[in-house]
Amino acid sequence: MTTPPSLPGWTHTYSGKVRDLYVPAGLPADTAPDRMLVVASDRVSSFDHLLTPPIPGKGELLTTLSLWWFNRLAGGDGGAPIPHHVIADADVPEAVRGRAMVVHALDMLPIECVVRGYLTGSGWGEYQASQTVCGIHLPDGLHNGDRLPAPIFTPAHKAPLGEHDENVTFDRVVELVGAARAERVRQLSLQIYERAADTALEHGLILADTKFEFGVDAAGTVTLADEVLTADSSRYWDAQAWRTGATPAERMASFDKQIVRDWLTAHWVPMQGEPPVLPDEVVQRTATRYRELITRLTATR
Ligand code: ATP
Ligand code: MG
Repeated sequence: MTTPPSLPGWTHTYSGKVRDLYVPAGLPADTAPDRMLVVASDRVSSFDHLLTPPIPGKGELLTTLSLWWFNRLAGGDGGAPIPHHVIADADVPEAVRGRAMVVHALDMLPIECVVRGYLTGSGWGEYQASQTVCGIHLPDGLHNGDRLPAPIFTPAHKAPLGEHDENVTFDRVVELVGAARAERVRQLSLQIYERAADTALEHGLILADTKFEFGVDAAGTVTLADEVLTADSSRYWDAQAWRTGATPAERMASFDKQIVRDWLTAHWVPMQGEPPVLPDEVVQRTATRYRELITRLTATR
């Protein structure tokens, strides 16, 4: 991993697979930061591996899309405001402008709040084995890519860096964060998914599934954090292709990391050794689709 840029006024503290986090420079050692700078890099990860090369422009596209959604969810779409972590009027250093945001530093809940409106990916795998997804029983006869009778909350326990996230039951979420917060994140996740899926559909896109992360602020408010409804954290499909496509590949024409995942699974046995270098064609196709997703979603009609 390349060294994160040094930025005036900020100290680098942590790098996840995709984002670099900074706290205000010069804080006394025993002071918890109240804000953070989150810089999205062009790094791409799949199957919990960091891939090479990076996708040019990806960090900026992810940040643009997150900010667009945060703004809509804060009431820009006419719905009830969802508390989120972005500090809108804060200064972002010139060197990372466009791909960074200043946020309230939160106490993050160790849960990936996944919502699925459609059956695919690991959910489809589990369904074929047991007719359940994360322990939730589903009707029989569903196919890969089918719409679920209603969206379901399928949380995962967020593993420390280097370990794999693990799907868990709702009861396990209650153990991890307490009953009230578990109920709150489930309710918020389903509510945000439904609002976002409606917006997506108005733009000819299906939001098949997505992942949210929440943190708790100093006042105890459960707050939407991290990235939101991006091509990295969500599966988006073309609605027209989904209705008319004959094969699963045609129905699930995606705007997201699926292009990378599909190429990888065809050229690598996941988790066996290091993944191969992505060919330029896959890199370019992914970058183009990420851009197209933003163009379509943010187009005013
Ligand atoms: P990946 O998303 O690739 O599975 P990751 O989540 O560890 O890996 P990144 O997304 O690259 O890594 O890094 C972002 C990190 O910042 C995550 O650990 C996320 O939980 C954390 N984070 C996001 N928003 C906030 C916030 N407002 N306060 C504190 N931490 C945050
Ligand atoms: Mg992340």
